[in-house]
Amino acid sequence: MPTYVVMLGPPGAGKGTQAAIVAEKLDLPHVSSGNLFRENIKNETELGKKVKSILDAGNLVPDDLTIDMVRDRISRDDCNNGAILDGFPRTPAQAEALNAMLVEFAGKVDVVPYINVEDDELIRRLSGRRTCRENGHIFNLTFNPPKQEGVCDLDGSELYQRDDDKPETVKERIRVYLEKTSPLIDFYRQAGLLVEIDGGREIELVTNDLLGILSVEG
Ligand code: AMP
Repeated sequence: MPTYVVMLGPPGAGKGTQAAIVAEKLDLPHVSSGNLFRENIKNETELGKKVKSILDAGNLVPDDLTIDMVRDRISRDDCNNGAILDGFPRTPAQAEALNAMLVEFAGKVDVVPYINVEDDELIRRLSGRRTCRENGHIFNLTFNPPKQEGVCDLDGSELYQRDDDKPETVKERIRVYLEKTSPLIDFYRQAGLLVEIDGGREIELVTNDLLGILSVEG
């Protein structure tokens, strides 16, 4: 049976950072809906043109476009054993659609780590976040700085500040999260899948908790 993990939590909680680490340990692909949208924007695809202004404003892309894009991604062969989903689902309709599509792939959502961090800390983290142009690797000027300023440790590409990591948009993203995505906490709790993790700690400590939940040696 494939393994599907849904990383849940507010923007800036560390979902992307942790998803990348855990994906490598479990040898599963890290499927980040935000990265998929940013790739489409960079490559100026039809989808990219449609969604650019939505991402810039910190709003959510409509469910149908998002669901189609993610379905496309997880139906590829490299997801045959499952995937670490980061940033998807973000609405109850997406969560229902995910359940339905995983039935097609003979799987189900196995566990939902919910990484929780306080609002003030989120704003601090997002404003210091830097993202690599080539592959979306994530750094933080304070908490996880790159070895060389402005350069990704992993692939040498330029690090930049996402437009939606600028202070005004960050507040909007947190508002949108509270309104649209936080109902998923109860959705997955009721399904018996939610495991809450204190994301306000160092990266390694959060990773250890996650690996424990996923029953993998650190
Ligand atoms: P992220 O990298 O996860 O912070 O996502 C960046 C932006 O991409 C979000 O602010 C949304 O505009 C868009 N996005 C990513 N995932 C989703 C999703 N599941 N549903 C709707 N919009 C999304």
